[in-house]
Amino acid sequence: MKNIVWHPNKVTRNDREKIKNQKGCVLWFTGLSGSGKSTIANELEYELNKMRYHTYLLDGDNIRHGLIKNLGFSDLDRKENIRRISEVAKLFVDAGIITITAFISPFIEDREKAREIIGTKNFIEVFVDTPLEVCIQRDPKGLYKKALNGEIKNFTGIDSPYERPLSPEIIIDTKKYDIISSVSLIIDYLKNKKYLDFR
Ligand code: ADP
Repeated sequence: MKNIVWHPNKVTRNDREKIKNQKGCVLWFTGLSGSGKSTIANELEYELNKMRYHTYLLDGDNIRHGLIKNLGFSDLDRKENIRRISEVAKLFVDAGIITITAFISPFIEDREKAREIIGTKNFIEVFVDTPLEVCIQRDPKGLYKKALNGEIKNFTGIDSPYERPLSPEIIIDTKKYDIISSVSLIIDYLKNKKYLDFR
């Protein structure tokens, strides 16, 4: 366009990160419905915020009501969901924010796509590993009951597969870890890998 000259941002990602004393990254939670993604993600954000780190939790509710509200559950829509969430998460990373996403994201191909968009060094896959029987027993939203009655179709774990991550950065075995120790495990990872206090 005439008279409009592209200008690189004067403030870089590194500048944004330096004043926050943290590196931007995405903690991409994956796991069955009821495995504990939202619960752990929320508690993690709460702890990081108390420690004065800058975070943002992208989860089903705040995303489904806006950014992806026109999308359903077809294969094409599911891919578009992941693409939009990943592109938004990528912007948050550039802003230097510790970004947490909590979606079932049952397919390896989709999670790999997210990793590709976000960049593998910014991407921390967190597998919340809870056995299906335990999730069915917890059934916090009553969704398994409905899926088992045939009221919901294509429900992950019932009549749609969940593909376990092959080499996630973090595995949370919720048989061994309660919510608080799961949060500590993730914070220790962030410290060890120098996402926190990196100056
Ligand atoms: P998701 O977001 O994966 O669908 P939720 O976080 O909504 O799952 O629900 C998980 C349920 O399991 C919550 O009611 C939570 O309190 C319970 N829960 C019991 N033990 C654990 C644990 N060790 N880790 C996470 N959640 C747990």
